[in-house]
Amino acid sequence: MAGIRVEIRGTVQGVGFRPWVARLARGLGVTGSVRNDARGVIVEAFATEKDLQLFLQQLRVDAPPAARIVSLRSTALEPETRTEFVIELSEKRGPKALSIPPDLATCEQCEAEVLDPANRRYGYAFTNCTSCGPRFTIATGIPYDRAQTTMASFEMCRACESEYTNVEDRRFHAQPNACPECGPSLAFAMLGEGVALSSNPLGATAELLKAGGVAGIKGLGGFHLACDASDPVAVELLRERKRRDQKPFAVMVRDLGAARELAKLSEEEEALLLSPERPIVLVERRKGTSIAPEVSPDTPLIGLFLPYTPLHRLLLEAVGRPLVMTSANVSDEPICKDEEEARRRLEGIADALLLHDRDIAMRCDDSVVRVIAGAPTVMRRSRGFVPRPFMLRSPVARPVLACGAHLKNTFCIAVGDSAYFGPHIGDLETVAALEFFEEAVARMETILSVQPEVIAHDLHPGYLSTRYALARSGAELVGVQHHHAHVVSAMAERGIVGPVLGLAFDGTGAGIDGTSWGGEFLLCFHDRFERLGTFRPIRLAGGNVAMREVWRIAYALLHDAFDGEPPLEDLPLFKKVPLDALRLVNQMLERDLNAPRAHGVGRYFDAFGALGLERPVSSYEGQIAVSWDFAADSETLDSYPFEIDGAATPAQIDLRPSVRALVNDIVEGTPPGAISARFHRTVARASAGLAETLLQEIGPVPVALTGGVFQNARLCSDIELQLSSKYEVLRHREVPPGDGGIAIGQALIADAFLGDKG
Ligand SMILES: [Zn+2]
Ligand SMILES: [Zn+2]
Ligand SMILES: [Zn+2]
Repeated sequence: MAGIRVEIRGTVQGVGFRPWVARLARGLGVTGSVRNDARGVIVEAFATEKDLQLFLQQLRVDAPPAARIVSLRSTALEPETRTEFVIELSEKRGPKALSIPPDLATCEQCEAEVLDPANRRYGYAFTNCTSCGPRFTIATGIPYDRAQTTMASFEMCRACESEYTNVEDRRFHAQPNACPECGPSLAFAMLGEGVALSSNPLGATAELLKAGGVAGIKGLGGFHLACDASDPVAVELLRERKRRDQKPFAVMVRDLGAARELAKLSEEEEALLLSPERPIVLVERRKGTSIAPEVSPDTPLIGLFLPYTPLHRLLLEAVGRPLVMTSANVSDEPICKDEEEARRRLEGIADALLLHDRDIAMRCDDSVVRVIAGAPTVMRRSRGFVPRPFMLRSPVARPVLACGAHLKNTFCIAVGDSAYFGPHIGDLETVAALEFFEEAVARMETILSVQPEVIAHDLHPGYLSTRYALARSGAELVGVQHHHAHVVSAMAERGIVGPVLGLAFDGTGAGIDGTSWGGEFLLCFHDRFERLGTFRPIRLAGGNVAMREVWRIAYALLHDAFDGEPPLEDLPLFKKVPLDALRLVNQMLERDLNAPRAHGVGRYFDAFGALGLERPVSSYEGQIAVSWDFAADSETLDSYPFEIDGAATPAQIDLRPSVRALVNDIVEGTPPGAISARFHRTVARASAGLAETLLQEIGPVPVALTGGVFQNARLCSDIELQLSSKYEVLRHREVPPGDGGIAIGQALIADAFLGDKG
């Protein structure tokens, strides 16, 4: 006989882990116990040496689908004689730390039950078990127990109760366990015309959608707006009502087979679609499918996802076609979560609401993932991921709240050796968004039982996240440079403390010299950085207006490259710009008035894209860049000339020669596909070239590719290809490369900075 004690850490609570361990142990004749503790699960096991080895091996490989084992450590125990293997209830063992798992997509067994006419949960939209169902979005406090969820008001019927209390049942301790007898129910309401009751809410919603209407659907982490994705009129109607110019809509399909019809999927993409997080997966859509082009005009990408609650699955079954499912909000306000709020905010947008009576405790938008150059990369980390922690290589000295950036805001709380991202907040531009931010921070502090002692924020004084930090008392404040945070967020994924040469490419971010940065080559440690290189700045005539009217950026670039004499008559783009606007912008540049300098690589994409595609206006951040990426042909392999000024401090990449060559190409009628390919190649060659020059001086440290620009697969893989034979290249996986990922970098920087001082 032998004994072992196994400590398992990761997402192992609330996912059916203990019953699974018990079944495994009993199957192998192992005795002992399993229980939750503050950091995961503790197993004590007794059997023969051989059986224990087998038990350990299966613990490592066979965990339930929603569990994520971060570490598994076993130590020897004095053998004891036990008669059985038991699950010890953690309630007896004092308070727990964070025990709330992320929301989990419906498992196969529950889905089968919902679709089986003989099952007592047939057609029941709130079916769940220990391996699936709502978690974070229904939690109102800790520990994670039914009484501390929005299921508290539903009393379990006898059948549910017996499932809940039976260790052998797959609903043992499934906190949101419910059935049609005792659980939440659906309701249908027309908007604007008072109450319209229906005995079949799902059916009524399906009829409305099939007839081309727009429905607001209360789901897991908030409301969606839905319409028939194959109906161009319905999609256009939704677009108009939602005031969402041209931003792509996500589409939910009933299963993997339906997804395959709409897009060519790689193995990684299929795995992501089916993962328990069920994110929206950005994939290349097939041509000539039933999906209306209006769903994602202007980009060959489409965001697909599969149903993650029985409600969604049943709705898709009833409608029988793919549905646009987009967060219910206007422009970039937070997603709606309550019925009252939905009635108020969706009036005039949705024709009707599909409602239910289980409250959403915490808003949580859908997550977005994309496979970039072979690597699944989380672009928006929210539902399904939150609040699963990142394990830090070394613990932070004091709890840190990192407030994140301005656009695509996500905050992060680091405590001990874990970092917890909050849900996706969105663009912090409105009062509603700020309120959501404050509410989400407060709730995360509650469920983590933590009072931050350090607050990290961006250096930009105008950001609402910065103002929030400055207004909060009782904590030490640390301002963190935006691109330093980007690089450290990439380092955090691999537990690297530096030095790392970070290429932080994005649209904008406050530098420490008063200009806007975004084409940065930073030598980074957690507590400091050195700016070794950048791109030659472009002037933004009119400031922020230029982000939308991208022709202004193109004009400034030409003004710079042609010494104040841009060859406008050769360029079709400027035929689309009013003459007086051109004169005004020219004046701003000549007099250097309201034309701040910006180093962002994203601005080069805007300028070259505007010229090559003849597109004067970008309707949302990144629109031109995405079109420009997909315009590139794959045959053109050459690039434009560029210069690197190595004597400057920091060294500077100068693309003026490329601008002149591009004008030549346009004059000669070169197709946009070749121009785009050359541009991408140029940026990749210049960036890899400067990186290599710098690495020769500083030594062979790892290179991190970070910032929103690295969502561009072409650029990302090209630079990686040029550097990876000689250097270790760090790319984002679980932490978003864009501004949604910087909070973890901010937290680590603040901690290291104060640690050094102490
Ligand atoms: Zn289930
Ligand atoms: Zn029941
Ligand atoms: Zn950024």
